[in-house]
Amino acid sequence: MQRLDVAILGATGAVGQRFIQLLDGHPWFRVAEVIGSERSAGKTYAEAANWVLDGGPPANVAGLTVKALDDTFDSLLIFSALPKEPARERELALAAAGHIVCTNASAHRMVEDVPLLLPEINADHIGLIDVQRRNRGWRNGALIANSNCTTMPIVMALKPLMQFGVRKIHMVSEQAISGAGYPGVASLDIIDNVVPYVSGDEGKMESEPFKILGAFDGGNIRHMEATASATCTRVPIIDGHLVNISVELADLPSFDDVIAAWEGFRGPDPVPSLPSAPEQPVIYLNQIDRPQPRRDRMAGNGMSTSIGRLRECPILGYKFAALSHNTIRGAAGCSILNAELLAVEGYLGQFKPDAVAVAQL
Ligand code: NAP
Repeated sequence: MQRLDVAILGATGAVGQRFIQLLDGHPWFRVAEVIGSERSAGKTYAEAANWVLDGGPPANVAGLTVKALDDTFDSLLIFSALPKEPARERELALAAAGHIVCTNASAHRMVEDVPLLLPEINADHIGLIDVQRRNRGWRNGALIANSNCTTMPIVMALKPLMQFGVRKIHMVSEQAISGAGYPGVASLDIIDNVVPYVSGDEGKMESEPFKILGAFDGGNIRHMEATASATCTRVPIIDGHLVNISVELADLPSFDDVIAAWEGFRGPDPVPSLPSAPEQPVIYLNQIDRPQPRRDRMAGNGMSTSIGRLRECPILGYKFAALSHNTIRGAAGCSILNAELLAVEGYLGQFKPDAVAVAQL
């Protein structure tokens, strides 16, 4: 099958490198263009990127010349791993020019007509693209966002609990260093330490879940209503964000009912058969001391959320710990899964994976 060429903005950073790693050998997409800042433009990818993942960049990408952000791009599909500020204008301009932009930046996440898409949770929000195109007069382009990396384990844990009526959520995160990008937090600040502040993330954890878990009525997303309070901390872990969550539910399900809701959660068709979808989006671990970042972040190839320690909370009713890999499930992996859903739903121009290829995955 002919693969679709894709471009990656911010290709040299922490999330950009994950995109390149995850797209190596992808059945539908092929990295054709890599884009960096002025620091990198004109160099080969191998020269420009300080590769921090295992091994080195794939040979077909290592030799590509890094393009500048204001260049024109041939690829219909663009993955963005840009910081918020350069993302703000450029992502809109590229979508207006007809590109499908799947972004990890926060600049447009909460804009009303931008889907904040997580396929297992809200695949139907993809319909907001048609609203976006009508609102903005875009014929072919679109801008699709995925969540903040710390929001991810929260919404993956809460979606299966919505049947019990989620009323209040209290969250305390322990976030990995790679969440701050490269080079990120200085070693003198993070080794032998915990930093009880992550700029901007508490507000995102208190707002993004309500849009993601909201209902699409054909024109707008009606945000879910609940009360949320978040505290974010940075800890000396390389990858994997752990969030301790207390929740008040309107019903009083048994612990077995809650665990069954998590373990039975799959997401709507066709999501479970997409190439990057994990077999089980949420995994409940019975061991008393799990999930742990080092041991559990790669569950489901980094795409599953691991939950454990479900117990009674004297204040809100239930409490537990949830863990997701921040640069895979919380960033590049989710963006790629979003693009796979776009492909199957016919939003990638003429490109459509054939039915046989989907069935065989
Ligand atoms: P990063 O490691 O700092 O990488 C930033 C990338 O953007 C680099 O490739 C850099 O290129 C490029 N860049 C910076 N300024 C630019 C400019 N003015 N014009 C063009 N390119 C520019 O950051 P990151 O952690 O990968 O995060 C990328 C985005 O994803 C951010 O919006 C972040 O909030 C979001 N995000 C991150 C995570 C995570 O776990 N890290 C998770 C979810 C979402 P050069 O190397 O060439 O300078």
